Amino acid sequence: MSAPDKSSLVTAAENPLLANRHKVLGEIAAALAQSGRAADACGLLAVSKTFPVEAIRILYADGQRAFGENYVQELQEKVAQTADLPDLVWHFIGPLQSNKTRPVAEISHWVHSIERLKIAERLSAQRPTAMPDLNVCIQVNVSGEASKSGCTLAEAAELAHAVARLPRLCLRGLMCIPEPTPDQDLLAGQFRSLRQLAEQLNAQGLKLDTLSMGMSADMALAIAEGATLVRVGSAIFGARSAGAAH
Ligand SMILES: *Cc1c(COP(=O)(O)O)cnc(C)c1O
Repeated sequence: MSAPDKSSLVTAAENPLLANRHKVLGEIAAALAQSGRAADACGLLAVSKTFPVEAIRILYADGQRAFGENYVQELQEKVAQTADLPDLVWHFIGPLQSNKTRPVAEISHWVHSIERLKIAERLSAQRPTAMPDLNVCIQVNVSGEASKSGCTLAEAAELAHAVARLPRLCLRGLMCIPEPTPDQDLLAGQFRSLRQLAEQLNAQGLKLDTLSMGMSADMALAIAEGATLVRVGSAIFGARSAGAAH
């Protein structure tokens, strides 16, 4: 038998990132099948925050295209370092201050964390003419926790209609981060409230096709409740170091 070819692509057996991605894709497929949904009804957003560009490249070679980042500066650095991979799709999923909207408007394909109109207006005004409209989701605080980002369920309709009118944004859907709880019924209810809100908004004439909900610990439950995009970090990349600021 000849020696293994060192130049060949890393395989799942050799690199845990690939094994992890395949496991997550398998879990997404199983959850979709179990709830009778189409096999392609939920996408995988790989949340790469705190992990190096080398990890993104390994996953890219395996077919992963959508990556999520929480911090503007980290997003800027990674976009610059992956400029040779033009079909990467960058999703900004973290809190966004108004003084940081410009770089995000200039490099992101998606923003999931719209919680007030002012931020949306700035992104629309700052979106470069040559780029397609920026895809956005409105983040909704489905748990009602005081510390959580997101608009309230009561505010969401007015905000959604206003965002949908902005010229350079394309309102795609809703995003939530539910309460961290082992109570599966409570979690399911919070995911369900996001889906029901999207259904109400579509009945009012909006065209939302995205429910960004579900993370490493609760993606199967989110898919059962209608998620179309799960945001998965640690189940692919491993635990983020406790020392990391995020
Ligand atoms: C970090 C993060 C994720 C991924 O969380 P995991 O539990 O590591 O899968 C998803 N969504 C948002 C908004 C995040 O900040």
